[in-house]
Amino acid sequence: MNALSDRAIPLPTTYTLGDRQPQRVVQPTTVTEVGDLLAEATHTHTAVVPWGAGTRQFIVDPPRRYDVALDLRQLHRVIEYHPADLVVMVEAGISLEAVQTLLSERGQWLPWDPPTPPAATIGGLLATAAWGPLRLGYGGPREWILGMQVVLGDGRIVRSGGRVVKNVTGYDSHKLHLGACGTLGVIASVTFKVAPLPAQMASLHATVLDFPSAWRLAMAMRQPPLQPVALVIEVANTITLMARFAGVAAAVERQLALATTACANATALMTQYEDRTRWRIGYQMPTADLLLRIGVPDSMLPRAIDALTILEPAHILVFPGLGLIVAGCAETAAARLPALRQTLGVMGGYAVVERSSIVVDRWGVVPSTIDLMRALRQRWDPAGILNPGRWLLE
Ligand SMILES: Cc1cc2nc3c(=O)[nH]c(=O)nc-3n(C[C@H](O)[C@H](O)[C@H](O)COP(=O)(O)OP(=O)(O)OC[C@H]3O[C@@H](n4cnc5c(N)ncnc54)[C@H](O)[C@@H]3O)c2cc1C
Repeated sequence: MNALSDRAIPLPTTYTLGDRQPQRVVQPTTVTEVGDLLAEATHTHTAVVPWGAGTRQFIVDPPRRYDVALDLRQLHRVIEYHPADLVVMVEAGISLEAVQTLLSERGQWLPWDPPTPPAATIGGLLATAAWGPLRLGYGGPREWILGMQVVLGDGRIVRSGGRVVKNVTGYDSHKLHLGACGTLGVIASVTFKVAPLPAQMASLHATVLDFPSAWRLAMAMRQPPLQPVALVIEVANTITLMARFAGVAAAVERQLALATTACANATALMTQYEDRTRWRIGYQMPTADLLLRIGVPDSMLPRAIDALTILEPAHILVFPGLGLIVAGCAETAAARLPALRQTLGVMGGYAVVERSSIVVDRWGVVPSTIDLMRALRQRWDPAGILNPGRWLLE
């Protein structure tokens, strides 16, 4: 059997990456098929790019070689859902939106809010380590993953972690695939622990005059008993602090009252709102030519914002408590990126290019774990067929 051509489908232009097009697109319907496809690709040295909905392919450079687009969206089944145990197992080609819809019918959710279009798949979101503001209150997706099934580059199907919350067997090797952008394996299915939907959710917007005022207000918002599950400072035409609270009704109302007082003390212009169905706040990731993700120790965020001014960003999102900044800049700012990286490096921080309309050094610094990652890649994908040249691994 020729696993690669048997599953080939007509080629849409949407699988283009940079100026490269695949020769074929395959849409496997089972994990075994994925294994067969990758085993054959290893044998024939065929370069494979895993695809979800394609919403975050911009996160890494186009591949150096690109023969086959491996579209995983037919792997979209819910394998198991045990609401009483707060556990769900899904195939990786299902969208996060579909999983949230299923869970919400039983009063549950995954507290994970990456700012991606609804079509974004679980596999693609995990491969690119996508996160959203709820990471402050609930941790990142890695905290909610119990286990994972992965197809390695050589076609082997491996499982790590477990299916139950109190699992003591199995290694956590699945965590290596988070953020690895499909260079270490194809995520096939994932088991999550899920959470009950909070009884009440409330959000508050406060417009302030300058960043120092917003930062002081953010610090006030993090003083117990205030415990926002999300906190974002948006610096654009105006400077806005957005805070979200979740929990039992009385606790949320108390926190909202205290937060309102903090805003009044800061002479901030404030509005309150709730969105019980989607619980998405009005923040949007900047749609700029050059999109940066900056990480620094949390207390350094104001200094990092000062340093960022050399890039003249048009739109900044600051995540107090997470030590993270997302900044949208003009393409011309890329020339000043090395200077910014130098300043951030002194603070123990970094700047990664998440999207760029021109060729740039995306990472700046090589992670200290790079040799380990390269050794894993060599062992799991000996022919180097998965996303060749898309990362620092070769
Ligand atoms: C196989 C493999 C290869 C990777 N190669 C790269 C790479 O080439 N470049 C890259 O930026 N990341 C690389 N990573 C890390 C990966 O990009 C992160 O997991 C991803 O950035 C998601 O980060 P996060 O938002 O979850 O950050 P976090 O989970 O908050 O980040 C994890 C830790 O890594 C640190 N960190 C993240 N990115 C950088 C960076 N660029 N410089 C210094 N420290 C950093 C953070 O400060 C934090 O301590 C690799 C990971 C794997 C598994």
